[in-house]
Amino acid sequence: MLAHGPRTEPVVAVTFDACPTTRSPGFAPEIVDLLEREKVPTTFFVSGRWAETHPEAFARIRGVAFFEIALHGHRHRHLVPGAPEAMLAEIEQGRDALRGLGAEVVPIFRPPYGDSPPELAEVARRAGVTALTWDVAPGDPDPRVAPATIQRGVTSGAQAGSVVVLHVNGRGISTPKALPGVLAGLRARGLRLARASEVLAPCTTSAGASDDRAAPSGSPAAPVATPPAGGTDPARGPSSRSAPP
Ligand SMILES: [Zn+2]
Repeated sequence: MLAHGPRTEPVVAVTFDACPTTRSPGFAPEIVDLLEREKVPTTFFVSGRWAETHPEAFARIRGVAFFEIALHGHRHRHLVPGAPEAMLAEIEQGRDALRGLGAEVVPIFRPPYGDSPPELAEVARRAGVTALTWDVAPGDPDPRVAPATIQRGVTSGAQAGSVVVLHVNGRGISTPKALPGVLAGLRARGLRLARASEVLAPCTTSAGASDDRAAPSGSPAAPVATPPAGGTDPARGPSSRSAPP
């Protein structure tokens, strides 16, 4: 499991999760409008269920050439230790759903809730994906988190190779207001904005070049994986322990 890319290049991936949600509207088009206007290459981690229930929003995201679509499971279920087949099904069903809607998908999987059970490395290898969480989570699903707090959390927390998690599914209440300052703050620090596949490229290229595809995750080329910042679940916010959206 990776949480960020190598700390050697001044690039940051500001990424957006589309977890399934019953919130209406379950999409924040202002985010996509801004990213497109400012030509920000970025990655959307889309759950199969969200794409199926928000086909027009999904088409809007897919229509921008410098965005990429990555995996966020299907039903957004917890990855339960001891149940590798269920983990594999969550990845593959999500991928099938996105492809069924005509999307090209990059082989990067963000586990729902940042779950990291012991079997995930093997399951990801079987599915042909790289598992990626984040190292900067400003907690945007919490409606009490103000735009300035999100902005400060990202611009002060990000470093070379960072992966930031925000939400595009309407659960990031303050995210559209925070985003202009987030982008400007990162640029002011000399950090270039890039898609997750680019930030991870030195790691995934190395793994892909391996003959047996079974190199230990602790191989020298892999960055140190760390648990999600604060150990909180950005999909639910730091204070909520209720059922998933
Ligand atoms: Zn999620």
